[in-house]
Amino acid sequence: MSIKRDRKLVLKEILHGDGPPYWRQGKANRPCQTSEEAAIERRKLVKVLRRHGKQDAMALSLAEKLNECRPLRRCASGACPECGRAAQRRFVGKADESARLHAVARYDNMMAVTIIPTAPDTSAVVRGSIRAAKYRVLRALHAAKINTFIGGVDVSYNETAPFIRRDDAADPSPRRSGRCAHVYVVIPQQAWFRAEALIRALFPRTPDVPRPIKADRFNGDLRAFAYCVKTTFDRRVTIPKHIGKEGRTVCRNTRDRDLLAWQKVELALHLDEVGLTSRWLLSGIPLMKPKPVSRSHPKSSNTSHPV
Ligand SMILES: [Zn+2]
Repeated sequence: MSIKRDRKLVLKEILHGDGPPYWRQGKANRPCQTSEEAAIERRKLVKVLRRHGKQDAMALSLAEKLNECRPLRRCASGACPECGRAAQRRFVGKADESARLHAVARYDNMMAVTIIPTAPDTSAVVRGSIRAAKYRVLRALHAAKINTFIGGVDVSYNETAPFIRRDDAADPSPRRSGRCAHVYVVIPQQAWFRAEALIRALFPRTPDVPRPIKADRFNGDLRAFAYCVKTTFDRRVTIPKHIGKEGRTVCRNTRDRDLLAWQKVELALHLDEVGLTSRWLLSGIPLMKPKPVSRSHPKSSNTSHPV
């Protein structure tokens, strides 16, 4: 974990302000979170941790840490909505700047790819470890020789609602639920098309994860970078529309709901353990402007290592 890097980053108070970068977010296309909204979320989380984690010393300790987060005395916790927002703003601003520079210089198109690392077994998916998801995807990208990407790890709690049969009788199978960590990366289009078959083979479909990989053309919208390291999390309820002939489920739909209290406590502890910048995936695209090239030294290096 990079505690020093996280502390150094969130001490920059300008990142806690309400200046650019700006983006829209969510299905309602709302403006990005303000500093005031993030402060409210921090105070709400402190209350949840105190109320629903009162039997857990680690939850109470985290509540105190978040409660003490102040300007110039930032807690730098991966669970803190204010520090998380500052890290997100840093990531979005610099990723955009770097991606634009590289897009102009080397790439015409990029792809936005979501990966749920399913193989070799789904237990890791259900456990929802951010680190496990990150390093399994990093290994896959390395195996596929994709060396340039910007991304982050997101988490959701996924539930499958009981099946509703055509006669409206509820299916007796229990509702399944689990934390799921998934990786969102922006990749040069050429590299993705070259490696797509291998990546899909490494992360196959499972009964719980019918679409482990989604790939769309990246349109340069800042919300994509913001989504990589978002600070609000959902409970995603999958609703099978009905069961058709031979018992096959027909049509799936999803609804996003607020996390339950115990999920908020569990996830806050996990995010605190992981840290802020450890959720980032960066390779080949430096998060800074390249230095001006000297005439006497025409070659410059643009390589960087995965974070
Ligand atoms: Zn904080």
